[in-house]
Parts: sequence; structure tokens; C-alpha cells
Amino acid sequence: MFEVTISQAIMIYTSLPLAVLFILWFVFKIRADKNDNIKIDLKSYLHDCTYCGHSFLDVKKSKIVKCPMCKNLLKRGGIMAHG
Ligand SMILES: [Zn+2]
Repeated sequence: MFEVTISQAIMIYTSLPLAVLFILWFVFKIRADKNDNIKIDLKSYLHDCTYCGHSFLDVKKSKIVKCPMCKNLLKRGGIMAHG
């Protein structure tokens, strides 16, 4: 076995947790940067009801959306049916 002095033991004891913290910080920093690169086009999900003027989000991307306020059916960018 190799001999370790008191000062070397203290150095190892303090530097190992710091090294682990640095690695964890680096990993989480890379993951956070990846999440920043994901861009969501909110305008494609945003609808304005032509009957009541209510603005709402619909994430289903269907061709027909239902207004949650007045329950009218709306076509993307126009009026579909009254109900
Ligand atoms: Zn409406």
C-alpha cells in the first residue's frame, strides 16, 4: 500500500466532494442548455374565436377546434359551424 500523510488525506477528503459537485453541475448545465434549444411555436396552437373573441390554446393540432368559452366549432383560420 502507499502511504498517505494527514495533509494529503485532508486534501483528498475535501477535493473529492468538490469534484463530484463540479461534475453534477456540468451535467445539469448541459441538460439545461439542451432544453433551451427546444422551441415551441405557440402561434400555431393559439386560436381566436370568431364568435366571442376568446383566445385559447389547442395543442391537438386538429383541423377543427372547439372554443372552450362559447363551444362553437372553428376551422383553422375560419368559421366551421355553429353549435
Ligand atoms: Zn368562442
